[in-house]
Amino acid sequence: MMARSFYLYNTLSHQKELFKPVHPGMVGMYVCGPTVYGDAHLGHARPGITYDVLFRLFKKLGYKVRYVRNITDVGHLENDADTGEDKIAKKARLEQVEPMEVVQTYTLRYHEAMRRLNVLPPSIEPRASGHIIEQIALVKKILDAGYAYESNGSIYFDVAKYDEKHHYGILSGRNLEDTREGTRNLDGQDDKHSPLDFALWKKAAPEHIMHWPSPWSEGFPGWHLECSAMSEKYLGEVFDIHGGGMDLMFPHHECELAQNTASRGQGGVHYWMHNNMITIKGQKMGKSLGNFITLSELFTGNNQVLDQAYTPMTIRFFILQAHYRSPLDFSNEALQAAEKGYKRMMQAAKDVKNLPVTADAVPNAEVAALTDRVYEALCDDLNTPIALSVLFDAVRLVNSVKDKSLKINAEDRQILALLFTDVLQDVLGLQDETTDATSGKLVDGLIGMVVEQRRQAKAAKDWATSDRIRDQLKALGVQIKDTKDGCEWTIE
Ligand code: ZN
Repeated sequence: MMARSFYLYNTLSHQKELFKPVHPGMVGMYVCGPTVYGDAHLGHARPGITYDVLFRLFKKLGYKVRYVRNITDVGHLENDADTGEDKIAKKARLEQVEPMEVVQTYTLRYHEAMRRLNVLPPSIEPRASGHIIEQIALVKKILDAGYAYESNGSIYFDVAKYDEKHHYGILSGRNLEDTREGTRNLDGQDDKHSPLDFALWKKAAPEHIMHWPSPWSEGFPGWHLECSAMSEKYLGEVFDIHGGGMDLMFPHHECELAQNTASRGQGGVHYWMHNNMITIKGQKMGKSLGNFITLSELFTGNNQVLDQAYTPMTIRFFILQAHYRSPLDFSNEALQAAEKGYKRMMQAAKDVKNLPVTADAVPNAEVAALTDRVYEALCDDLNTPIALSVLFDAVRLVNSVKDKSLKINAEDRQILALLFTDVLQDVLGLQDETTDATSGKLVDGLIGMVVEQRRQAKAAKDWATSDRIRDQLKALGVQIKDTKDGCEWTIE
């Protein structure tokens, strides 16, 4: 792949910047993964797919990529605060199982949902509970640097002290005064010098199940600490990209940035990236709002909000139709439209292989421009909606050749075919659900054999057999259409 300039919007500088990796030819990216205390839901699909496309695109552009996406299995307390119960411990208490059973159950379900969405596994998937030693070492560094204090066995980050030298709020566009006004005085925060301060290490209350020894107390790490510790461990003190949902920008990423700066003297992240949220009919998704949709419910249609089931690729297509920094509103109508668009695209991806070519057709200028146009869109801050619209131009050209209103030569057919394999399939990760990696070849092959039996029956004028095969295939959702040159089949 030819070297292309890649521009990425940096949340920290509020502008698109030319991407320059820390190490030439290599990309290090860290994305905050799920806290595994419940089923993967629609809100997990967007960051999952967004950073997957980024991962795939970098690889297609020829970079070696190390993609780290963590699993939060300890330290994430209710309401994202420093008090209250650990989300996983609470689930374990309610279900009367070990916290690590909760972690295992929902990690496996998350992996399965991501697999179905064709999200590639990251290069490393570290867990917070597996990196307690690194987190304790980081707390020590921040203490030594003078940006934290001990209080009754807990360690807190001293935000006001940090803000004297650095800018706490630089990422989320706040200053200390705004933050102070927005902070509630919660019960149980008496250990803190200020409600702005956040926990690096918490002394465990007697009823707290998950705890580890430390120089300060038997306790557990603060939620923000794991990502600073694990990104440094696997990507180094300075690395390229840190991503996550917009909802994590404050306090999570703001605190991470402060921890990095306090311990290493620099933020350590060159590009901060945030994907926007999915709303449901304009509302935030939430269990209490009654519009909470898990991914397995979407795949089966088993939720009162849903008119029907939606396939994983329909959901992937739906998400990629919006730019990752734009809000995306879920509705049945929007998903049904995405389903149609996805099917049209996949049909063209199939048809392109059998397009007739005309040896003496002049090279088509529109076809020649498609590849550059699509990569230009993708390299412009991952503009997937524009990339898809370029691919729809390719679909239109394929259909014109198919209905014989346009003639192209073999080279142009090759360009079109590559767009569907290299971009649609490899980068956007949209695959034909009837021919996915596990069942596709087999299904295609078996239908091909049956269709051939029918062709032979027809050739022998055995109309009864030919019609029976057609009807039986139809009952299974396979439509056969007889054409001048033989027949075509499609799976409904
Ligand atoms: Zn994180």
